[in-house]
Amino acid sequence: MGERLFMLTAITGINWGDEGKGRMVDLLSENYDIVVRYQGGNNAGHTVINHLGKFILNLLPSGILRENVVNVMGNGMVVDLEHLDGEMQRLVDAGVKISPDHLKISDRAVICMPYHKMLDCLEEDRLGDAKFGSTRRGIAPVYGDKYMKKAIRMGDLLHPEDMKRRLKGIVDWKNLTITGVYGAEPVSYEDMCAWLMKYAEKFGAYICDTGKFLDEAENAGKKIMFEAQLGALRDIDFGIYPYTSSSSTIGAYAPIGAGIPNHKLTNSIGIMKAYSSCVGEGPFTCELFGEAADRLREAGGEYGAATGRPRRVGPFDVVASKYGCRMQGADEIALTKMDVLSYLDEIPVCTAYDIDGRITTDFPVGAELDVAKPVIETVKGWHCDISGCRKPEDLPKEAMDYIRYIEEKVGCKVKYVSVGAERGEYVVLD
Ligand code: GDP
Ligand code: MG
Repeated sequence: MGERLFMLTAITGINWGDEGKGRMVDLLSENYDIVVRYQGGNNAGHTVINHLGKFILNLLPSGILRENVVNVMGNGMVVDLEHLDGEMQRLVDAGVKISPDHLKISDRAVICMPYHKMLDCLEEDRLGDAKFGSTRRGIAPVYGDKYMKKAIRMGDLLHPEDMKRRLKGIVDWKNLTITGVYGAEPVSYEDMCAWLMKYAEKFGAYICDTGKFLDEAENAGKKIMFEAQLGALRDIDFGIYPYTSSSSTIGAYAPIGAGIPNHKLTNSIGIMKAYSSCVGEGPFTCELFGEAADRLREAGGEYGAATGRPRRVGPFDVVASKYGCRMQGADEIALTKMDVLSYLDEIPVCTAYDIDGRITTDFPVGAELDVAKPVIETVKGWHCDISGCRKPEDLPKEAMDYIRYIEEKVGCKVKYVSVGAERGEYVVLD
């Protein structure tokens, strides 16, 4: 097992997001030179708590808190410049150094414009009760425009005259929808130009061909970590469509969204939560309701990092997680938030789905997923505080039994067990 084996590591979400990816990237990036975000925008948040404080990162990679790590925002991302500006300022105010040496933004990443946010809100409002539970950050509209080839990219900021010329046609086209479909006020071309130019000055020095940078870094023997946003079940192709995000959240997309499709991942670490949580609308088969849900939500602090919305919660879902492990190509698992289950005498687990009387452990799609009912088993809890455990032998027998039970059900080995939100609160299993 040579060192080279782990040069290109993906850190991905096995579930619906909020598994604790930021927390694990903050921990595991110690041994990496570069951390890359390869998809998504500021529609979700990664929480990192360490000696520097508590941070919620929406766009910046979670390696930003390590001075000797270079952070890359890849071409697969969509970037709201105003949001990025605020996010960077909050870190700088907290004493974190950010410079073009240590943050690089892809010239091919797509800019999320104010009118994307506006269209996201107009459409959610139009849908009323049938809404998708969008975070209203403009993500679906901006990815839509990327594929319509009507987007402005970061590199365009370096060529303002060309950019402004193209923007004119795009704004005219957008206003047809804004005024004609939604009856809203048109956006002003001049305002959009001014908005872009304000940030062109701020971010110009950070924009580069990050694919070339990463290719050279890999060839020079640097270790690269890819940080996913959201989880397998939110992937645009393989998730709970249409209640997914608009990007590819899976590990196999990481080299593409980072700009190095000529390189293959060497390993994939799936971040999997010891129970389930889900933000927004859509099928969530294992969902708990009432008092049981309230207790789990409180114990886990399940409120959205980006939006503050209360998250839907449920027991560990074998069907969804097994599928998530497969989609992510997970070689090993970091099982997070184990400490949260400490209050339970008996821990419920969703072991299969009942689809109109047919019992299955294969994750269904579409109408079958909508009618699936959870099959619940219970396992014995440990009922004591495990947040101080640092070695496998510190974990109570029932906690170890729970880990082995889950490993067996999802068919993937658990390597890390997180027992708290802070950097040092974890156990490595043999
Ligand atoms: P991400 O989107 O996958 O990075 O996850 P979030 O940051 O949105 O949500 C995870 C939440 O759980 C954050 O508030 C973390 O601080 C917290 N957290 C992460 N790991 C653990 C853990 O092992 N135990 C506890 N109690 N909290 C954790
Ligand atoms: Mg999150």
